[in-house]
Amino acid sequence: MDTAVVFKMHITSLAVLVLAAAPLAAQSTAFVGVTVLPMDRERTIPDQTVVVANGLITAMGPSATTLVPSGARRIEGRGKFLMPGLAEMHAHVPPQQPENQLLEDIMFLYVANGITTIRGMLGSPYQLGLRDRLASGEMLGPRFYVGAPSLNGNSAPNPGTAARLVREHKAAGYDLVKIHPGPSRATYDSAIAVGREVGITFGGHVPADVGIAHAIASRQSTMDHLDGYIEGAAGPGAPPTGWRDITSAQLRTYAEQTRAAGLYVVPTQFLWENLWWPPDPDEAAAWPEMQYVPKPWVTGWQNQARGRATQVAQMGLTREDAEVLFAKRNELLKHLADVEGTILMGTDSPQMFNVPGFALHRELRVMEAAGLTPWQVLVSGTRDVARYAEDVLGQSAAYGTIVVGHEADLVLLDGNPLESLDNLTRRSGVMVRGRWLSKAELETGLAEIAARYAQ
Ligand SMILES: [Zn+2]
Repeated sequence: MDTAVVFKMHITSLAVLVLAAAPLAAQSTAFVGVTVLPMDRERTIPDQTVVVANGLITAMGPSATTLVPSGARRIEGRGKFLMPGLAEMHAHVPPQQPENQLLEDIMFLYVANGITTIRGMLGSPYQLGLRDRLASGEMLGPRFYVGAPSLNGNSAPNPGTAARLVREHKAAGYDLVKIHPGPSRATYDSAIAVGREVGITFGGHVPADVGIAHAIASRQSTMDHLDGYIEGAAGPGAPPTGWRDITSAQLRTYAEQTRAAGLYVVPTQFLWENLWWPPDPDEAAAWPEMQYVPKPWVTGWQNQARGRATQVAQMGLTREDAEVLFAKRNELLKHLADVEGTILMGTDSPQMFNVPGFALHRELRVMEAAGLTPWQVLVSGTRDVARYAEDVLGQSAAYGTIVVGHEADLVLLDGNPLESLDNLTRRSGVMVRGRWLSKAELETGLAEIAARYAQ
């Protein structure tokens, strides 16, 4: 046992003493005898008792010596694995305020899939209030970072407008500015400069006129969809056949530059593969998770897939070209994982066939197929999300690792996800800032959602 663990045990015993004296047993929960994945580094700690009260982890230690407060709810943890909740760092919460039921359903889909943090990348003013309702627990759902309405070619046609918008978005209370394709380099530079002045960061696409090298130099904090890298490596205006000539050394250099600048990518690999080689629309519409979203969404996605298939054909793109693109993206992703601390888990749900929550588990399989280890995949949705929130968004982020004092955003699994990511879907329950949802409650909630959209 290393000294850090011994030290932590001392802290834990103190926390237990304090808890024993405090009259808050009614709100407390204890996971007893569980194997903990703290996610601070690649390890598991067997046979722990983890106590939660008032939304926080208040004690953790060996189950033989860690007191379960009297009256606490006991959750049997033997044979199970407790890890921090996951994150969807490129979510599109509907920008037009939908009826409350749909919002509740979307948020529940995230939670039911073990997701306790999302970052919204299609912002609008009502979402600021939604962020507060989620934070207070008035609505059940993940912690919500809200991106501002996007800067794009229409909303930000010139540097002056971009500068004004960035000031307004900061004043309105958004957590970051979203970039879409379209802005010129001068407009981008103006936005970045004002963002630095007022203290708000940028994430999203890398506009063509900006390019990946300039985006990295400008410290755009997230390059979503791995946008700009393949274009940068192949050279401006290169045809799809040019992807073949991209070298390992180029991709490795981009990964190192991204790490050195303290920046992140949100890969959205699953969506990108579907956009560049669309699946059969009828087969995709029959995926099991499609029952959890309104029918018009699925029809819209099918139409989008048909449209993409036409566009791809018009470009003259072959299946082989698409496979080269996916292989280069995967290779880049593996380099990014190997330099550590550059990847944030995300899918772009509910973009085409990405059902909120469920899509993340499809994305993780693509990340694993790219050669990432389970640890590299898991850390991108836990510890490194909190690091992004602290270092980039400048907000305190007591989550993403299991330690005393952190918020109780937890997933209880029937198998070890470090051995197989499939175990992420074998959930015994999910805890959202101390609120426990058992497997039965999650299944009931999902069944209600499916019934609502069955008509
Ligand atoms: Zn997006």
